[in-house]
Amino acid sequence: TVRVRFAPSPTGYVHIGSLRTALYNYLFAKNQGGKYILRIEDTDRTRYVEGAIENMLKAMEWAGVVHDEGPFIENDEIVQRGDRGPYIQSERLDIYHKYIENLLESGHAYYCFCSKDRLDKIREQQRAQGLTPRYDGHCRNIPLEEARRRVEAGEPHVIRLKLPEDTDVTFTDLVRGEVTMNTRDLDDQVLIKTDGFPTYHFAVVIDDHFMGITHIIRGEEWLSSTPKHIILYDAFGWEKPKYVHLPNILNAEKKKLSKRHGDVAVEDFRKKGYLPEALVNYIALVGWSPDDNEEIMDMDEMIEKFSFDRVSKSGGVFDVDKLNWVNSHYIKKADLDRLTNLCIPYLVEAGLIKEDEKDEKYDWVKRIVNTAKERIEYLAQISDYAKRFFGEEVKLESEDVKEVLNEEHVSKLLNIFKEKVSEAEEINNEFGKKVFKTIQKETGIKGKKLYMPIRAALTGQLHGPDIDEVIVILGRENIIKRVEFVKN
Ligand code: GLU
Repeated sequence: TVRVRFAPSPTGYVHIGSLRTALYNYLFAKNQGGKYILRIEDTDRTRYVEGAIENMLKAMEWAGVVHDEGPFIENDEIVQRGDRGPYIQSERLDIYHKYIENLLESGHAYYCFCSKDRLDKIREQQRAQGLTPRYDGHCRNIPLEEARRRVEAGEPHVIRLKLPEDTDVTFTDLVRGEVTMNTRDLDDQVLIKTDGFPTYHFAVVIDDHFMGITHIIRGEEWLSSTPKHIILYDAFGWEKPKYVHLPNILNAEKKKLSKRHGDVAVEDFRKKGYLPEALVNYIALVGWSPDDNEEIMDMDEMIEKFSFDRVSKSGGVFDVDKLNWVNSHYIKKADLDRLTNLCIPYLVEAGLIKEDEKDEKYDWVKRIVNTAKERIEYLAQISDYAKRFFGEEVKLESEDVKEVLNEEHVSKLLNIFKEKVSEAEEINNEFGKKVFKTIQKETGIKGKKLYMPIRAALTGQLHGPDIDEVIVILGRENIIKRVEFVKN
C-alpha cells in the first residue's frame, strides 16, 4: 500500500508551498487508498523555534490536510499516533546511531576530524579557483580503528558519507522522468554532525525506510540531494522509494515566492480571511490541473481526480487575483452563521463593535455579512465594507453623489421618505420594498430619480447592496439621523 509523508522542519510557520507539498501527498495517498504520514524534521537544533510544532499542526488541521500517523495535539499536548514512530526526529537519535555504525563498518561512511578553520580555508581556495566548494577527502582514508581511538580520546568529529568516485547515479522522478547525476558533482555529505545529531540527508533516508514510505513527494529544491539519498539506500541494500519533485511556486516576477514579498505563511492567509477550502483548492491548482480542467473542487473531488500525470514540470505562478476569485466563490456559498462568526473579530478589531456587544448584535451583523458576502474577496474586507452601516453621519463618496443629492426634487423626496420611516410600524424588508411604491404613487417620482437620492443619502454612495436591505440594517433611528445629516 502507498505510504507518503510530509516532513516539515519546525521553522515557526507553514509556507504556502509547503501546504501544497503536504496537500499533494495527502491527495495522492487518499486517491490510492494509502496512508499519509507527518514527520517532524527537527535535527537542526540551531533553527529550533518554540511552539513551532504546535503552530504547524494547527495550520494543517485548519487547512483540512490531516495526517493518519504522526504527532497530533490533544488537550494542548503533543501525542503521537501510529506504529512506526516516534515521528519526531529528535526522538529517534538511537536509531540513527545504530545505523551509522553499519555504514562505518561497511566502509560507506568515515569519521572526519577536520576543523572548521581547515574547511573554511579549502573552501576559500576552491572558490578562488572558480570551483564549487567541496570536501577534499582529507580524512577519507583514516583507518577505522585509528579513527575510533581519536573519537574515544574526545577529538571533535563528524561522520561523512564516502561517495563512490566518478559514478553515475540515476533515479526516476514520476514527473521529470529519468534524472542522472555524477558523484563528481556531489560532496562527501556530513551524516552525523559534531553535536551527534544526524543531518537531514541521513535522517531522511533512515526514517523514510523504517516508516515504509513508498513515494517521496517534495519540493524541487531537494532534487539535487536525491542522488546522495539513493547512494545511502544502496549502501544499506534497501528498496528505494519512488520520487516526485514538485516545481517551485513563483511570484509575479517569476522568482521563488518568499516571505519578503508579502504573505506566504498559511497563517497570514487565515488571518486575512481566506477560507481553508478556498486556499487548499487554489493552491492545488498551482502546478496541477485535473483532466477536465475544472477549477472549483472540494477535497473529495480533488482526491478523486489527482494524479502525477498532470503535475507540471515548470514553476507555477502564485496569482493573488485568482486566489481572491476562488475565495469569493467559497464565501458566497459558505454557511452564513459560519461567516458571521468569522467576520465578528474583524469588526471588533476595527472598533466597529465592542467585544461585549457580540451577542446582542449578532443578528444585525449577520444581515450585514449576508449583503457583504457577494462583495468581498476575503473576510478582512468586512470592516471596510461594514463601515457604511455605522454612525449617524454619511460621507459622500464623490462629486456624482453630491450632484444626485443636489437635484431639485430631492429635498421633497427625502422629507417624504423620512416621514414614511417615522410612521412605519416596523422597518423590515416588506417596508423596504413597499415604501418606494407608495412614494412613487404619491409623488410621481420614479426609477433612478427615486432610488438614487435615497441610496446616496443613506450610504453616501451610488452603488451597493440592495436598498431594502440597507434600510433594514440601518433601522429607523439611524435612517432619520442620516437623512437629516445629509439635508443640512
Ligand atoms: N525537512 C525537509 C523540509 O523542510 C523535508 C524535505 C523532504 O521532504 O525530504 O523541506
